[in-house]
Amino acid sequence: MNPPDFTLDKIKFATDESTFDKAAVLYSKGKVTQITEGIRSYSGIVLGTKPYRVSVEARDFRYATCDCYLGKRDTLCKHMIALALYVVKDGKPLSDGEAKSISTPSCSGIARPISDEELAESKEQVAKAMRYIKPYNGPSRTWEASQNSLEEGCKRLSVIITELPVTQDMAKLLVDMLLRLDRKLQTGGVDDSNGIVGGFIQEAVTILLEFARLDPTCKKAFSKLATASTCFGWEEPLVQLIEN
Ligand SMILES: [Zn+2]
Repeated sequence: MNPPDFTLDKIKFATDESTFDKAAVLYSKGKVTQITEGIRSYSGIVLGTKPYRVSVEARDFRYATCDCYLGKRDTLCKHMIALALYVVKDGKPLSDGEAKSISTPSCSGIARPISDEELAESKEQVAKAMRYIKPYNGPSRTWEASQNSLEEGCKRLSVIITELPVTQDMAKLLVDMLLRLDRKLQTGGVDDSNGIVGGFIQEAVTILLEFARLDPTCKKAFSKLATASTCFGWEEPLVQLIEN
């Protein structure tokens, strides 16, 4: 089988948790059957409540069809994702890490010194993920695509920040990331009416509170928030920490 253009990461970053988890179970239980390869596409029968006929395109698993209830309404369903998983893994089993979806970010809890290279690399990763948080300025039919991009950006950022060691430099990086996200919401034209980015900002603030608890010198990184005027006052719990 020829490999597709998409990767396992791409599937994870672009699929909601519950759909991904259900698809990973279907795939792991051998419910993806009779796979055939077409021209830049794959088809198969996925055994759900009934056998469903599913196909995905090699360029993007979101160009997919399925004859289940959701698929008929052009909604990405677990059967499409299960077939996409088969295709990227070429039928091989998913490891425990691979089968895990991306949920909310958390604090690594690891306080250790970091090198300049490590800091530079983390900055670059954050900058790359930030590109998915982009303004919506197209016609209404691409509004959903723009929301998906926001979600993908926040998932990518979640994975990155969950791995950051707890140091003052990393706290500074997180504060800068939050201020940039805030600017994107306030003046950058990002339409966050679904609250995807706002929710992520609040989770990141919780992580920074944990940073300050584990390493009190991290509070120094919060000082630039004291004069910030943010979109919904998310910085307040952090500013309170410097004042106390
Ligand atoms: Zn389906």
